[in-house]
Amino acid sequence: MTDCIFCKIIAGEIPSYQIYEDDDVLAFLDITQTTKGHTLVVPKKHIRNVLEMSAEDAATLFAKIPKIAAHITQTLGASGMNILQNNETIAGQTVFHAHVHLIPRYRKDDGFTASFTEHELDLKALQSTLTTP
Ligand code: AMP
Ligand code: ZN
Repeated sequence: MTDCIFCKIIAGEIPSYQIYEDDDVLAFLDITQTTKGHTLVVPKKHIRNVLEMSAEDAATLFAKIPKIAAHITQTLGASGMNILQNNETIAGQTVFHAHVHLIPRYRKDDGFTASFTEHELDLKALQSTLTTP
């Protein structure tokens, strides 16, 4: 896609700090470096996000994550890693080429916060709404 910044990175048209590449994916350092080693893993094929991904494309992308994630965690001596993925603006997606964030974690106050607000909802009703056929 011509106006996609990640397609341009994949094509080598704009610079990036690449740390892994194969036929299907590219991994490069995120410019924000939320924590040291914050990396993006992107499919080479332009896909908007996971909501538009086929099972096959998802399998291809996500199969690469454990190896890259473990390598970053071990090499940088991180204690753990948050792996997250934003889909559409409301969820924080700003670049509309699917990508997985790998965020190595060192300490609770290392720059990234993952928290879940609790809401009391009717889980039985939600279950019947959401049960996948
Ligand atoms: P998201 O908000 O989930 O769409 O994440 C997009 C990410 O892409 C952000 O964390 C940006 O810092 C990162 N980003 C944008 N442009 C570049 C670039 N040229 N090189 C590396 N990372 C980038
Ligand atoms: Zn793209």
